[in-house]
Amino acid sequence: MSTVMKQDRLVAINPTRSCAPIGAMLSAFGVHGSITINHGSQGCATYPRHQMARHFREPIEVATTSLTEKTTVYGGKENLLAAIENIWNRFHPTMITVCSTCLSETIGDDIPGIIEEFQTNHPDIDIPIISVKTPSYIGTHITGFDLFLKEVAMRIPLKSRKGDSNGKVNIIPGWVNPGDIRELKWLLREMDVPVLWLTDYSDTLDGGYYDPRPHFPPGGTTVAELQDSSRSLATIALQKYVGGEAAKVYKKRHNIPAYILPMPIGLANTDKFLETLTEITGKPISPELERERARLLDAIVDTHMFNTGLKVAIYGDPDLVHGLVRLTTEMGMIPRFVLTATESKAWGDDMVALADELGIELDIMMRTDLHELHKRMKAEPVDLLMGHSKGKFLSDAEHVPLIRVGFPVEDRFGYHRRAIVGYKGAMYLVDEITNAIMERRGSLVSNTLMAEMEEDIPMNGGGCGSGGCGG
Ligand code: SF4
Repeated sequence: MSTVMKQDRLVAINPTRSCAPIGAMLSAFGVHGSITINHGSQGCATYPRHQMARHFREPIEVATTSLTEKTTVYGGKENLLAAIENIWNRFHPTMITVCSTCLSETIGDDIPGIIEEFQTNHPDIDIPIISVKTPSYIGTHITGFDLFLKEVAMRIPLKSRKGDSNGKVNIIPGWVNPGDIRELKWLLREMDVPVLWLTDYSDTLDGGYYDPRPHFPPGGTTVAELQDSSRSLATIALQKYVGGEAAKVYKKRHNIPAYILPMPIGLANTDKFLETLTEITGKPISPELERERARLLDAIVDTHMFNTGLKVAIYGDPDLVHGLVRLTTEMGMIPRFVLTATESKAWGDDMVALADELGIELDIMMRTDLHELHKRMKAEPVDLLMGHSKGKFLSDAEHVPLIRVGFPVEDRFGYHRRAIVGYKGAMYLVDEITNAIMERRGSLVSNTLMAEMEEDIPMNGGGCGSGGCGG
């Protein structure tokens, strides 16, 4: 039977989470010409910039109100008013997002009120200025991303008239890499479905080398598109915990049907995404996608002898972990430990339901850290670890291969360009996992199976167990 635990320890050791403003900033990078102001101390802007630059390998520009001891005592209103005005005068952005931080929330700055005052005093500055509540004590980077999307859905789309449709589908990809968004774009082109992205940082955070460097990187969803998103046929959120709430806002405010799907990792989840597109638009799944699906099935069949029965530990963002459990199970592996830093009873319930459906037994851990996972792995070894770069130390200590997925991947290059979604993304993961298993020093068999094999089978001179090769 699967179990769910929540960490009671008041300190995190080797945490898997990043801070909340990072999520809002990341999603805001998907709006063309927008700028984020971080209302807090300089460190609250430096840390996200540093973290994002190491993952995306792009310059990350974020403004800060640079709060100090004095503003901490007397309030940061004047700094924020000056910051919005400076940003407007210097860059003329299309939209400004103000993220709060632990500091500005704790001192109680009324950010929506300050923005309102600015807009009243500057009626000529006619751009959306939104605020997102992102102190890190209310959640993680996932919370920040999700709240930004919800704020956009509530404030930017224009009122729509009944029956006045733009013929597009709103897609909320959630926390993914630029490579994933490009892969999703390919799937949607194959399905011939016009899309409105909420939001799209596939170019802004994975751009080219331009000389001279443009003021704002090319790409991203425009504010005009965001305003038009209230006229779409439907909204699909590809992650329940990042964008699911925004999809509900579109349903409630604009009567747009909301489809909240599992992240399209693996065969079944990608099938579900494409079938949903067909349901909404009536368009069939293209022959090329059918062929790609068949290739993924073939890849799973070709590799099953290396992967079947191997135990996996997976950590990271809630939707990512959910999708990877399904994919590894499709490959015949046994997900054993799953961990996220986010605290969510709904996620725990979702994981129990998934484990029951797949017939596996999971140790489900939430609001916890890699120290906890390490303890579990010591007590019950696994064959594979999947998650971001912070798990490197567990991988080294326990001699278990680490498949790098999620955010941040900072000790390797190019992972932000790779896709793990769709059939192609799943094929990439199947290859990556199988090669990692095959590369394990000295053996093609697993930690799990090794003990049994040492007992039952002579390690030298053993041939094919089935006799099929005559060994
Ligand atoms: S103080 Fe809060 S918002 Fe600022 S960097 Fe630290 S966790 Fe993030």
